[in-house]
Amino acid sequence: MRACPTLTAYGRHYLAPPRTLVSLTTFTSLHRHNSAPFLNLSLFTAFRSPFSRMEQFQTGTGSTGNKAMVENLKRFGVISSKKVAEVMEALDRGLFVPVGSSAYADTPLPIGYNATISAPHMHATCLQLLEDKLQPGMRALDVGSGTGYLTGCFALMVGAEGRVVGVDHIPELVDMSIKNVEKSVAGSLLQKGSLSLHVGDGRKGWEEFAPYDAIHVGAAASEVPLALLDQLKPGGRMVIPVGTYFQELKVIDKSEDGSIKTRTETSVRYVPLTSRVEQTGGF
Ligand code: SAH
Repeated sequence: MRACPTLTAYGRHYLAPPRTLVSLTTFTSLHRHNSAPFLNLSLFTAFRSPFSRMEQFQTGTGSTGNKAMVENLKRFGVISSKKVAEVMEALDRGLFVPVGSSAYADTPLPIGYNATISAPHMHATCLQLLEDKLQPGMRALDVGSGTGYLTGCFALMVGAEGRVVGVDHIPELVDMSIKNVEKSVAGSLLQKGSLSLHVGDGRKGWEEFAPYDAIHVGAAASEVPLALLDQLKPGGRMVIPVGTYFQELKVIDKSEDGSIKTRTETSVRYVPLTSRVEQTGGF
């Protein structure tokens, strides 16, 4: 493999393509986490993203394909945590995506209702950022839980003694996410009640099990919802994409005295955290 500069905008570890393509591929990469309406297909196909080499490794189906996906995320430096690798290996992404889609390619996929399941490298990145706050017995909230894949990963991280809540405002997606989780290794946690998936406006959080050690938001907020900050435990961490067209993945830490520290992890492109009517156009 030829030596390439590191593309810091997408995390410290990713190998960038040759320098002449960096700015264009950076732009293309911004669309990797995107919802279908924002996908710029001409750029998408014309230039290779830093992850395009990973997309070639879609070998196998079922657990073989899932294992190969995790191996590649490790090889490309996206996953460095043993626990995150174990959890992503255990939870078959193929059970969470629409039938016939490329479950193990490093790309977001449409799931209906103008929503997408995020690319595996974004799920891995968020799991790693939250790992310390997803220890056994801890509490986590996943806002914009969509397919339930990441919510399921959180549940496996915190285990039966922990509590994980997923919230999405599209009832059909919540129904689908429950069915997905039931088919997966996280199904028993759903049955035991340490994992639950609910219909609701995630901008209000989910008061019932607050405060949370970890809060993940899977849709981009124009600003950080105050209810989510309130429901973050002192010592807890929130990972949330913030922005409209240009978005940044923010890591927000609440210290024990309640003060807030925010830093930017990387540039991203997510579907908006919005109202149900705005998202679906009233359907
Ligand atoms: N993290 C999920 C889905 C990401 S797509 C996955 O990877 O599968 C973003 C999700 O946020 C969509 O499912 C969308 O319906 C949801 N969403 C957007 N605004 C919301 C809101 N105000 N409350 C709850 N969910 C919302």
